[in-house]
Amino acid sequence: MYCRVKSCLLPKGFFRYVLPHVAAPGREVVFFPYWRYRGTRFSCIENDIRHQFVDVTHQAVESPYFPASMGLRAQAMRLAFIPPHTPGRFLAPTLSLKDILIAQEFRSKTATASQREYHHSHVGEVLSLIYSPFYIEAKVVDAILNRSVSGPLPDSFMNTLPKFDPPDWRIQFLSALCPSCGWDLSGERNAIVLTCTNCNSAWQPVGGSLKPVPVGFLLNDSADIFLPFWRIKADVSGIPLSSYADLVHLANLPRVIQKGWDQVEFRFWSLAFKLSPKAFLSLSIRMNLTQPQEEPKLGNPPGPFYPTTLSVAEAVDTLKTSLAGMMKPVETGFGKLPQIYIKALRFVLVYVPFRSGQHEWLHPGYNIAINKNMLSLTDH
Ligand SMILES: [Zn+2]
Repeated sequence: MYCRVKSCLLPKGFFRYVLPHVAAPGREVVFFPYWRYRGTRFSCIENDIRHQFVDVTHQAVESPYFPASMGLRAQAMRLAFIPPHTPGRFLAPTLSLKDILIAQEFRSKTATASQREYHHSHVGEVLSLIYSPFYIEAKVVDAILNRSVSGPLPDSFMNTLPKFDPPDWRIQFLSALCPSCGWDLSGERNAIVLTCTNCNSAWQPVGGSLKPVPVGFLLNDSADIFLPFWRIKADVSGIPLSSYADLVHLANLPRVIQKGWDQVEFRFWSLAFKLSPKAFLSLSIRMNLTQPQEEPKLGNPPGPFYPTTLSVAEAVDTLKTSLAGMMKPVETGFGKLPQIYIKALRFVLVYVPFRSGQHEWLHPGYNIAINKNMLSLTDH
């Protein structure tokens, strides 16, 4: 209100939250950390790509005296940022995300023991650290319910716990001003790319400052909304996929290879916004098979556009899953997945125009229809 400048909120690495407690005043509260992971996991199993929404918590410190996970608390309770100088003892996490991803709760439940998972990827990942309050008596006591959660504790139990981190994590505020011309940047609350309408540029916060994003748009006669996609040029090893002719072979497209198609560069197209897993995958595959050839015009689109909520790094993680979805026949293709490596070389954010239908956003040229409800509801 005072300075009239919008800000981006940047956590140091990830957001940290704390749950409120009801411990008696004066009692020392021990805040035990849990990693919370939310996202969709795609798995390539047999001749199918399956998906599963994952929202799980897991101890960030290995200890048999504290509950292994938070149960449903992360979803059911109000999470608050941790104010500086919060009294209590905060345990530093000793397990990394990698450690917990291999923990039981995070394993795919979509494959049975006899089925082989050829590849998996995560999309829409949100990682945070949640501190749950306890206090220590003869047993570990949950400070939300005032109920003991452990058996009797060994002598010098407190010494077995890892070092305590002081709660001095602050959220960094970055003024949303265009680094190039000083104009106010605009963006939806959840957007990760901000735009300058004055100098027609796009920016994203990287490591505490705003970095330019190469941006362009495609145009046709009637654009009611522009949807953002990452167009990514990548080195693919393990199978030939550098030209449009390679794609025709890989996807077994019902087309006769034309002269010159081996000179047309293959580029990945990945959604820059979140969508339900099934729609996300089918739209990615459709865009990759379409391979729009128009060169984007530079700058932000000249009409309303949907916010970019998926980073290019996340998009790169999903390329192999999209590739798996393009392979035909699937039976012979999936076996090659473990040998395929995709290295992203360069990218551009491309806004693609869609027309408004009654219930769908349409791109007749690409044969694409996206349910309007899906766009407004799935973004979070
Ligand atoms: Zn500007």
